[in-house]
Amino acid sequence: MVRTRIAPSPTGEDIHIGNLHTALINWTFAKKNDGQFIVRIEDTDQQRLIKGSEERILKTLKEYGLIYDEGPDAGGSAGPYRQSERLETYQIYGKELIEKKVAYYCFCSKERLESLRKKQQKEGLVPRYDKHCLNLKDPEKRVEDGESYVVRLNIPEDIVISFEDLIRGEITFFGKDLDDQVLIKADGFPTYHLAVVVDDHFMKVTHVIRGEDWISGTPKHIYLYDSFGWEKPIYVHTPLLRNPDRSKLSKRKNPIWASWYLKHGYLPEAVLNYLCLMGWSHPKQKEIFDLDEFISVFELKNIQTAGPIFDVVKLEWMNGEYIRRMNSGLLTNKLLEFYHEKYPKEAIEKTVPLIQERIKKLSDYLPLCEFFFKMPEEYQADLKPHKSILKKAHDTLAKITSWKAESIGQTLQNLTVKEKLRNADFFMWLRVAITGKKISPPLNESMEILGKKECLHRLSSLL
Ligand code: GLU
Repeated sequence: MVRTRIAPSPTGEDIHIGNLHTALINWTFAKKNDGQFIVRIEDTDQQRLIKGSEERILKTLKEYGLIYDEGPDAGGSAGPYRQSERLETYQIYGKELIEKKVAYYCFCSKERLESLRKKQQKEGLVPRYDKHCLNLKDPEKRVEDGESYVVRLNIPEDIVISFEDLIRGEITFFGKDLDDQVLIKADGFPTYHLAVVVDDHFMKVTHVIRGEDWISGTPKHIYLYDSFGWEKPIYVHTPLLRNPDRSKLSKRKNPIWASWYLKHGYLPEAVLNYLCLMGWSHPKQKEIFDLDEFISVFELKNIQTAGPIFDVVKLEWMNGEYIRRMNSGLLTNKLLEFYHEKYPKEAIEKTVPLIQERIKKLSDYLPLCEFFFKMPEEYQADLKPHKSILKKAHDTLAKITSWKAESIGQTLQNLTVKEKLRNADFFMWLRVAITGKKISPPLNESMEILGKKECLHRLSSLL
């Protein structure tokens, strides 16, 4: 049984778009194999917790449709799924490691560690713990006496640790380059490294699929699995997303929180489709496909390791494609929901055919269509010099009996001929008079939707 997981830390505003990518891969791989996808909340770093973060992460995952089989609010037989609720388990396995001499108590003060670090830096060495507490006499007694301690992993200097990454091949680390990692902190909480191994083991995770930034921690995990005598999962370290200039995806250059995209009018299915293409390409080079198709053609081993470019401009294009391909009823509902039902459904429904080809995001709708719901407050051109022609337009339009785009268009066309006006000028003034803007959905159709009374009212208010 394939079991995958994501293990977000609730230390950010929401789920990072890069982690959404990892979630998508984990979810897809589980679905493809009739397996299970788990969400585990890694909240062991109590200092960095952000209030509400966990709720937002879980909510965003659901909004994207990446439904998990097990998780803090979904239950499951391997729970609890929040590390802060599993502290006793980590204590037990921390002790086991000490008994096996794979880990040891360390009583070094902050000051000692600090001065050690400075000294090593001065000597041009990479700061590492110097195993000062490795062979203390009777450390248990000091623990019993209530002295503050941490538990450290004892990595032999001469050990060579290798593991096979499914997409990167064999990766090797040397003991002399690895620090004696703290496994249990002074507050009794485990660090990520102990907790991740214990949890992945007891949650029966078969494939650890996570970002490449976790590669450097993996040899410590391998060492722990081997020390416990547990079977190791299969590792896949996915490439990190990059800005178009190839730098690491960062707040300054791109919105990084997954919910930002939903709030700004991107469709979850378009964002996920775009993420499918990060480090992977469709065997038929297709760009637009749904998740069912992704599940059927996706292979973990085909993930490319070179950092994929996350380009919001491309994503916006793809989002526009999704909008264009949607049936108009569905688009109406999406817009209704996006604007929290502030505008009547019937009105949105009528306007959709006019704008479906023109918008790339749901949020493009209102700037283009607000004039359907209220009088313009500003006008993008000075209409004062054109009052007399607007008056003529008003009076001619007032005579129309069948208020349809075609008859409106014909009437206005006749007027421009009669008045010897340049079409472009006249329709621009009229467009601004009705919509407030120089660019709008097709004018005749818009006027039909607005209705005769409202159009005449807008014209006469300018006279
Ligand atoms: N807690 C880690 C994170 O925030 C999880 C890393 C892993 O998947 O092992 O992404």
